[in-house]
Amino acid sequence: MNKPAQILDTHSVMFITQRPEIIMVEGNGSWLTDNNGKRYLDFLQGWAVNCLGHCNPGMIEALNAQAKKLINSSPAFYNEPMIGLSNLLTANSCFDKVFFANSGAEANEGALKLARKWGQLNKSGAFEIITFDHSFHGRTLATMSASGKPGWDTMFAPQVGGFPKADLNDLDSVKKLVTNKTVAVMLEPVQGEGGVIPTTLEFMRELRKFTRENNILLIADEVQAGCGRTGTLFAYQHYGIEPDIMTLGKGIGGGVPLAALLATNAAACFVPGDQGGTYNGNPLMTAVGMSVIEQLLAPGFLESVKAKGELLKSELLKLCIEFNLEGERGEGLLRALMLGRDIGGKLVELARERRPEGLLINSPKADLLRFMPALNISDDEILQMCNMLRELLQQVD
Ligand SMILES: *Cc1c(COP(=O)(O)O)cnc(C)c1O
Repeated sequence: MNKPAQILDTHSVMFITQRPEIIMVEGNGSWLTDNNGKRYLDFLQGWAVNCLGHCNPGMIEALNAQAKKLINSSPAFYNEPMIGLSNLLTANSCFDKVFFANSGAEANEGALKLARKWGQLNKSGAFEIITFDHSFHGRTLATMSASGKPGWDTMFAPQVGGFPKADLNDLDSVKKLVTNKTVAVMLEPVQGEGGVIPTTLEFMRELRKFTRENNILLIADEVQAGCGRTGTLFAYQHYGIEPDIMTLGKGIGGGVPLAALLATNAAACFVPGDQGGTYNGNPLMTAVGMSVIEQLLAPGFLESVKAKGELLKSELLKLCIEFNLEGERGEGLLRALMLGRDIGGKLVELARERRPEGLLINSPKADLLRFMPALNISDDEILQMCNMLRELLQQVD
């Protein structure tokens, strides 16, 4: 403990983001420890990835057992966890077929390809996919083009074409963009990077009705909102609707690189040669995914996520009153605190630097904090976080 902070030699790490001068070396549940022995209460969890916290015992066991048995049989063969996880996902959703990927962007890229293929087969080559302003679908060229992040339209110009943007929760804005080239509408049930903006019940239901009536596919990007994050196994289940295609990422691997593309029988139109990948469906990652999904489905688990979401919400609302903040929003354990002023970045920094224990939070927009803790976080840790935040808000005021 109390060693002087070392100067880190990071010159060979490609500079793609500003990182603090610490190294994270260990994790346990909702806590991370850095190279100086300082502990952090982690409300980032790898960006809503470690849904069961750091170093979950069930995941470790699944990883170790599978590593001893078979790490990679090649995508040319079936393997046990690939089949097991596919069956688990289809048995607990409205989908019939699963293709595994290594990242959310890759799963979404697959969804875009699948929709275009479906358009070739069923809609005279219709290929346009309507997406939404402020949406986030990934960092490949096509998923960046599909995303509605300000500035991304010119960043690596030219974009991949065919992604007109509508306004979330405004059906007329979707209708205006529909042409005979429209094959799908793609959206996040809760816009994550966009600032935790839930799609409304009414809009989702009307959109599903409208897309069905017009032979347009509905694609739910549940990379962030899926896998228990909002208190149901999948976020679409809140709405009483069934999408044609869904993508999962982040939480499905609980921290390992795993993602999935799911489709109904009617939408699953790939034929051999259309889709693949070296690591796709590899047994090591899918074995971990099985452990994750089984733990999410354990009796009472999703109910506890809902209860913890309510607790976090009520505690955040207390802070709103105490500090005259704008409000809070979100679903389950994907929540945001609207600060009403541009102090998000400052709070993130103060929280990390807090002593003796730090706090890890995220500010996707300057006037907003986002919370995406482990789904098995304790009530006590939620209260601890809110007390730390209270302290920090007093400091910036
Ligand atoms: C994070 C995210 C992605 C991209 O996932 P990666 O694994 O980073 O490629 C796509 N869509 C949504 C909604 C996300 O939150």
